[in-house]
Amino acid sequence: MKYISTRGQNSQKLSFNQILLAGLAPDGGLYLPETYPQISADELQVLREASQKSYAELAFLLLQKFIDSDDISAQDLRKIVEKTYTPQIYKYSRLPENAVQITPLTKINENLYLQELSNGPTLAFKDMAMQLLGNLFEFVLQKYNRQLNILGATSGDTGSAAEYAMKGKKNIRVFMLSPHGKMSDFQRAQMYSLNDENIFNLAVKGMFDDAQDIVKAVSGDAEFKAKYAIGAVNSINWARVLAQIVYYFQGYFLATANNNQKISFAVPTGNFGNICAGHIAKQMGLPIERLILATNENDVLDEFFKSGIYRPRKSAETFVTSSPSMDISKASNFERFIYDVLEKNSAEVKKYFENLVENQQFSLQDKLTDLAKFGFISGKSSHQDRLQTIKKIYQQTQGKILIDTHTADAVKVATDLQNADEKIVVLETAQAVKFEKTIIEAIGEKPIRHSDFANIENLPQHFEVVENNVADVKKIIEKNC
Ligand SMILES: *Cc1c(COP(=O)(O)O)cnc(C)c1O
Repeated sequence: MKYISTRGQNSQKLSFNQILLAGLAPDGGLYLPETYPQISADELQVLREASQKSYAELAFLLLQKFIDSDDISAQDLRKIVEKTYTPQIYKYSRLPENAVQITPLTKINENLYLQELSNGPTLAFKDMAMQLLGNLFEFVLQKYNRQLNILGATSGDTGSAAEYAMKGKKNIRVFMLSPHGKMSDFQRAQMYSLNDENIFNLAVKGMFDDAQDIVKAVSGDAEFKAKYAIGAVNSINWARVLAQIVYYFQGYFLATANNNQKISFAVPTGNFGNICAGHIAKQMGLPIERLILATNENDVLDEFFKSGIYRPRKSAETFVTSSPSMDISKASNFERFIYDVLEKNSAEVKKYFENLVENQQFSLQDKLTDLAKFGFISGKSSHQDRLQTIKKIYQQTQGKILIDTHTADAVKVATDLQNADEKIVVLETAQAVKFEKTIIEAIGEKPIRHSDFANIENLPQHFEVVENNVADVKKIIEKNC
């Protein structure tokens, strides 16, 4: 399997290991496999049986289709997935006896299910991909005898998922910038309570955008970047999308009795990473009926799927909402989908995305019927919708099922759009305890915490406050490398 850039059909084809540590392709595009492996009916049955053995086994068979053995041998790949997808790491299931399934289903009613993707150490679905990334990075760095200094900015979930995945890994350090005093107490406690030698929490005196600007400036200094092997783990990383394909298969197998059935997935969407994996699973031949995309008030993608016009907003036009991980107005993985819509014509993709910089929008209005054939449908949700949905599910299930705000966006849109007899699996992307304030607003009670998190705010915190200043951040990196 070779990889290409969405913007350059004729540029060099690369192997998995060559793109694993890379961000954007040099031409500004995103990396994608040349073709999506096709799953035959026989093979789908083999995968179903593998999923009954273990999630790791299913992941192994699917990942092998995308990673040549020259890059990672079958034996090593198996070790990596077995180390990643264990019930000890994904242990925070609603029904602890189901933790062995890694991403178990919870039934809301006959045709509506939740797929628990947030049972990992940071209680958000980003662990599903990030934990694999940590082990892949460690393997590849050791193989080529390289080091990596991950530099990132976070307003919450991504930073902690990255730190929990990379902590204690050989040849890797993480320098994570966060806005000083701006994260929730729980998020801050999660990140800053880590005490591993290779994790550096830098609290910048400024806002998230300031932290992000420092990261851009440091990464933009080519000499510094090369000297200190600066890398990223942002959501455009191909391996993150790849890891997410696996749980669509697992969700399908858990929700159906045989491979003649079809189901739909509803996905709370921000950067289009999660649902992009669903799109690829469908293109590989997984019997997915529809992909139901849910946004919050930041509805750039809902607007696109309704009108064919893609119009990213500026950060000043982005609303701060109670589903904060979806407060995104420029979907960084969207180009991967548009590449398929434009029938893999990279010259066209390049034209659309380069013009986007100047015109701030593009239109695929004449392709709305083509869009429909990919099975997408969309809707949006508001703060009031989230509160009502959380309360409704909680009451309907006699207090057994409490969902978080992002999952609520998807449940709301899924129930609005559901056809008669359509079976929908809603991807549960975070746990309610992370959003205590909104949960109290919705049901009038505090969500119950697992004992592992009971006292998290009182643990000693490890971080360094830094000025909103590029030079100071560079000095810290130099000192610690
Ligand atoms: C990141 C995140 C999302 C959005 O996922 P994308 O892949 O960016 O579309 C949704 N919910 C939660 C809880 C998240 O952390």
